[in-house]
Amino acid sequence: MTDPAPLLALRGIRRTYHVGGETIRALDGVDLDVPEGQHVAVMGSSGSGKSTLMNILGCLDRPDAGSYALRGQDVARLSGRRLAAVRNRDIGFVFQSFELLPRLTAHQNVAMPMLYGSTRGRREVRRLADAALDRVGLGARRHHRPTELSGGQKQRVAIARALVNEPAILMADEPTGNLDSVTTSEILGLFDDLHDAGQTIVLVTHEDDVAARAQRVIVMADGRLIDDRAPDAAAVRGTIAASAAAGVPC
Ligand code: ADP
Ligand code: MG
Repeated sequence: MTDPAPLLALRGIRRTYHVGGETIRALDGVDLDVPEGQHVAVMGSSGSGKSTLMNILGCLDRPDAGSYALRGQDVARLSGRRLAAVRNRDIGFVFQSFELLPRLTAHQNVAMPMLYGSTRGRREVRRLADAALDRVGLGARRHHRPTELSGGQKQRVAIARALVNEPAILMADEPTGNLDSVTTSEILGLFDDLHDAGQTIVLVTHEDDVAARAQRVIVMADGRLIDDRAPDAAAVRGTIAASAAAGVPC
């Protein structure tokens, strides 16, 4: 029996920036397959290309070379408008700094992704936003604005917003980077529950205890994937230390 096609498949992905005559190879030939339902942590020192990789996986940016198949569709060469449609339908993004709209309530923030290119009626939008907030345990705070919520609550709203269109992939770039340890463990528990329910998750982290909860850890250095393994906090730390010692810029 052959394995099913991966949910996402990157081949030879390159992304180069040109700044003041200097060429920066932010991604320098990345190959990566992620099967449906996997929980992947991305690690690596600062400047190793993690966010550039996330932006390409999340259809926020396009590679200069290489292919990216998402559910079998090559999205690497789509126009900006078509890429935005794929992003809206298939990707949920969670950021370190939450990125909620301050004037909107929790409920209105969660409803935002449904307002683009959706044919849903208002009652359906309201019902789905309520369900997403309930799923992250914040139903009772639906009318609060971000300034009236704690950091952990804000991140729950952001996760509800990322989930509301039932994305193929939940992407998170250091989602617990601004949270204390108790709140971090609550948010990680929420990611565990989502993973148990079948959600594919790709998460960037600097923290070994965050990576230890993933099924797989990939490590980047200098725009390349240098390691790919089941989590073993001590071993992951050793690889990052070795790449730093080898002169990987921080
Ligand atoms: P990480 O998230 O691992 O810290 P990034 O993906 O943000 O790394 O950056 C990888 C490399 O690309 C770094 O050298 C960074 O300075 C460079 N880079 C990232 N974004 C840009 C940009 N918009 N313009 C120019 N250089 C960039
Ligand atoms: Mg980054």
